[in-house]
Amino acid sequence: MKGDPGQKSFATRAIHAGQAPDPTTGAVTVPIYQTSTYEYVEAGRHTGYEYARVQNPTRRALERNVASLEEGLDGHAFASGMAAIASVMTLVPADQHVVASRTVYGGTYRLFEQVLDRYRLRVSWVDTTDLDAVAGAIVPETRLVFLESPTNPLMDVTDIAAVAEIAHRRGALVCVDNTFLSPYLQQPLRHGADLVVHSTTKFLNGHSDSIGGIVITTREQDAQWFAFLQKSVGAILSPFDSFLTLRGTKTLAVRMDRHEANARAVAALLEGHPKVRRLFYPGLASHPGHDVQRRQATGYGAMIAFDLGTLEAATTLLNGFEVFTLAESLGGVESLVSHPATMTHAAIPEDQRRALGVGPGLVRLSVGIEDAGDLLADLEHALSRVA
Ligand SMILES: *Cc1c(COP(=O)(O)O)cnc(C)c1O
Repeated sequence: MKGDPGQKSFATRAIHAGQAPDPTTGAVTVPIYQTSTYEYVEAGRHTGYEYARVQNPTRRALERNVASLEEGLDGHAFASGMAAIASVMTLVPADQHVVASRTVYGGTYRLFEQVLDRYRLRVSWVDTTDLDAVAGAIVPETRLVFLESPTNPLMDVTDIAAVAEIAHRRGALVCVDNTFLSPYLQQPLRHGADLVVHSTTKFLNGHSDSIGGIVITTREQDAQWFAFLQKSVGAILSPFDSFLTLRGTKTLAVRMDRHEANARAVAALLEGHPKVRRLFYPGLASHPGHDVQRRQATGYGAMIAFDLGTLEAATTLLNGFEVFTLAESLGGVESLVSHPATMTHAAIPEDQRRALGVGPGLVRLSVGIEDAGDLLADLEHALSRVA
């Protein structure tokens, strides 16, 4: 079973998949293979490792680990979530078409609109929670449907299985950016997705100390293509970042349980709080995506957004925290608070931003794994300062 725990349960695979003890020394932890090249056995014969852009054992261990957690065929790790998404987009040739969630991560929007437009990528941005809108956007040239669920910051939930059925009937692949939930809470391949992509920077690494990305595949031809891209484009994850991320995934199950429990407590505090105008968390029965998420995921994650109505109220709150840290990003052990209108979504023109529901009073939390009582007290105190 060492390194190949097959059908063992998630928490066991998180710790063992891809991580057989080192055959030379028995080292229990996969070492950081900090080498650029490998000695040939003899002329014309190598060990399977030739050059570290192409193969690295630390990276390979992480790739096999996350592929196991997503129940995919294989994984390929890249230097960032964006590098992983850019690699996925090479599956779509020039003049072909993609249907994408209109509320995808800002960097994904920028990649499609300001980089891939040069390669004549055609994109339809649709509300993928609306299945008729998805079906209506697919044209004969559609090669890929690109989803996030839930999305940032309003936690729109898309029915992955329903979209996969629509896409497959029309000959398109489905890729899900599963960064917000991690495979512990949602496994899109089980619902018919063909590809999963992650910013490992977030929950998979989980400690806010590495940038990385990974693509998980279900088809042998795609796995070979992503290995070919690692070799040919070279945007690979470093051995050290692979090591950090692999250390992160070992504790994914316990971290996600705690993230989830803390997020539920925070959502309960915010629900019905007199200063909170609107609350966005799929775990609430009132959330429009609640039923779909309950069907397709085993939890609701640790991302919560709420609207205080005005910029002044939001600013007062943001400056009133002691435990929550004011910063972009998410998915680390520490709780973060951010202000989408001036931080993650600042590049979107104001009218468009408002149309997406991202107003000046909107605040987003990434709930960490600190003591729940301390988080609730911090939030209560910050809210008490708001007029
Ligand atoms: C952060 C993020 C990305 C980009 O990942 P990087 O590692 O920052 O390049 C992509 N998708 C989602 C949903 C993210 O949160």
